Amino acid sequence: MIYVCNSCGKGYFEPRGLCSCGSDGFREEKGDSVKVYCVKLYVTPSGFPDQLEFCLSVVNGVKVLEQRK
Ligand SMILES: [Zn+2]
Repeated sequence: MIYVCNSCGKGYFEPRGLCSCGSDGFREEKGDSVKVYCVKLYVTPSGFPDQLEFCLSVVNGVKVLEQRK
């Protein structure tokens, strides 16, 4: 499930009150995420988990940045 901005079409993996474009209208879309590129951080700033992994994914043609937990 992703949340797609009605105004600019930007996709998010988590619900948001406001898109970066300023719109607050979102629609939910079902879809499988296809990971395009993943990067793992083994050294993180204090206050963050010891390791973080981010993936660039494509869901229904929408490019999103996903943080893996
Ligand atoms: Zn937007």
